[in-house]
Amino acid sequence: VKKNGRNDYQFFSDDLNGQIMEQLELESDLRKGLARGEFTVHYQPQIRTADNERIIGVEALVRWNHPVKGLLGPGLFIPAAEVTGRIVELGNFVLREACRQMRQWHDAGGPRIPVAVNLSSQQFLQYNLLEDIRDILRETGLAPEYLELEITESTMMDASRASAILNDLVKSGVRISLDDFGTGYSSLGYLKLYPIHKVKIDRSFISGISGSSHDRAIVATILTMAEHLGMQVIAEGIETKEQLDILVESGCRDIQGYYYSKPLAAEELERKYLWPAEA
Ligand code: C2E
Ligand code: CA
Ligand code: CA
Ligand code: CA
Repeated sequence: VKKNGRNDYQFFSDDLNGQIMEQLELESDLRKGLARGEFTVHYQPQIRTADNERIIGVEALVRWNHPVKGLLGPGLFIPAAEVTGRIVELGNFVLREACRQMRQWHDAGGPRIPVAVNLSSQQFLQYNLLEDIRDILRETGLAPEYLELEITESTMMDASRASAILNDLVKSGVRISLDDFGTGYSSLGYLKLYPIHKVKIDRSFISGISGSSHDRAIVATILTMAEHLGMQVIAEGIETKEQLDILVESGCRDIQGYYYSKPLAAEELERKYLWPAEA
């Protein structure tokens, strides 16, 4: 840096300052946004193909209704929320909102389906996760078997703690899904170590499935293995009829992806999936 003279150093330093300022602004925006109720939850339907294309669950996905920037997807703010620790508060908001909403749908006579909520590793490792989840279930009155927690391999870096936390969660009645399955280094080991009810086959295996016999073989293997282990399987990121047909042929019944639907606002999900007008 020194060798290139003062200007370059200045440039670098300004750029870094800019990034730090942006981070600080995002952090203060996050805090305000939470206080002002700017976050909202969308729901992506999960479909059982074999059963008349019935909805069997939804995944809750957070959105930020930003006053200036408009509706933001989680990729734009979850990383900052994780770095600043704001993810715990944000995560609890999503958990509470998703449970409240699902209980309300059940009460209104909607299908008795579960809601899946993503947990970040920060949330997972904070010491009162179990208590927070029990409180939220009690407050919202949702029966625990209708809450599915989606975790990834990175959530469970600390293997012995993860095992204890997961066992406690399962004892309290909630269900555990292993998200982005197959993308980490030790997916198979996790299935042996942890109480996992369901695996979600990652989109990266699906996108190539029609052109690659390797991807088809991987998917088929995951399906066989899950069946032997008594776990459920859902495939994520299905976008085309061709992908759907290959999955169904391989024996995968449960599907989540744009082919059926993008994540929807609550009212839209009601209209299209929970109380669809009779054709
Ligand atoms: P994810 O958990 O793997 O969620 C699936 C993502 O894939 C969602 O993006 C969804 O809209 C998208 N998707 C679904 N079907 C398709 C498809 O057919 N094709 C393609 N290309 N994409 C599809 P989204 O909503 O932008 O969420 C991105 C990620 O942000 C999520 O990935 C999850 O890791 C994280 N996230 C979302 N909500 C929360 C939350 O409440 N808490 C935490 N900790 N993370 C969240
Ligand atoms: Ca997920
Ligand atoms: Ca996923
Ligand atoms: Ca992911």
